Amino acid sequence: MPIQVTVWGENVHEQTSAVVQEVYPKGMHTCIADTLQEDPEITTRTATLQEFEHGLTEEVLASTDVLTWWGHAAHGQVEDAIVDRVQARVLEGMGLLVLHSGHYSKIFRRLLGTTCSLTWREAGELERVWVCNPGHPIAQGLGRYFEVPQSEMYGEPFQVPPPEEMVFSSWFQGGETFRSGLTYKRGNGKIFYFSPGHETYPIYHQPEIQLVLRNAVKWACPEGGKWEDGYTRKATPPVEAITERGPKLHAPGTEGLR
Ligand code: ZN
Repeated sequence: MPIQVTVWGENVHEQTSAVVQEVYPKGMHTCIADTLQEDPEITTRTATLQEFEHGLTEEVLASTDVLTWWGHAAHGQVEDAIVDRVQARVLEGMGLLVLHSGHYSKIFRRLLGTTCSLTWREAGELERVWVCNPGHPIAQGLGRYFEVPQSEMYGEPFQVPPPEEMVFSSWFQGGETFRSGLTYKRGNGKIFYFSPGHETYPIYHQPEIQLVLRNAVKWACPEGGKWEDGYTRKATPPVEAITERGPKLHAPGTEGLR
């Protein structure tokens, strides 16, 4: 069975910016999906903000192994109920790739629990992306580093929790450095944040970037079974016979609080 990827795109600047339209005439989400689709082990579909339930219905998410997320101008327009739904699927085991300005998306901030703020500069400068762990699955096929000829600078402090692993670290022509490829795990879901991807530059057309995305999808693919919410509304009976002791809050048989 191929890995089922849903490529989510905010699809706003593609409609409003002539520059972005020129770089991504079919939309960034379509470019990313086409890139992933080149791998015979991956099958893709796209979803956008403008669709019913942002294209992320229960049915779509239930059959998604890995979700990729690119947003920038309209994070606030993403319905909280959909964020809840995506979060639940990540905890169950769905992989999540958060790209570039998705650092400020509701879902990334929800899952990481911090502001996810960073510093930035839109100057079309060179970005040198260093591989921190050449043995990591996401870094396979790359050299010691690769360069993005024109990039938006994302700089420290990047206000995220300490990652499980830093796969990439970037240096910018202007002097800053940035933790540009970070892995996390929440519940059973693997999360990869990858910062290159500003929409006015052809970054998702670059072979090294495309390779990272395909590697990351394979890395983030669910393993094992679902980590479903184990909450039961009634008190759990003991496995061994015990004598109850001490005062109780809950009357026998009543439902738990949440
Ligand atoms: Zn940007």
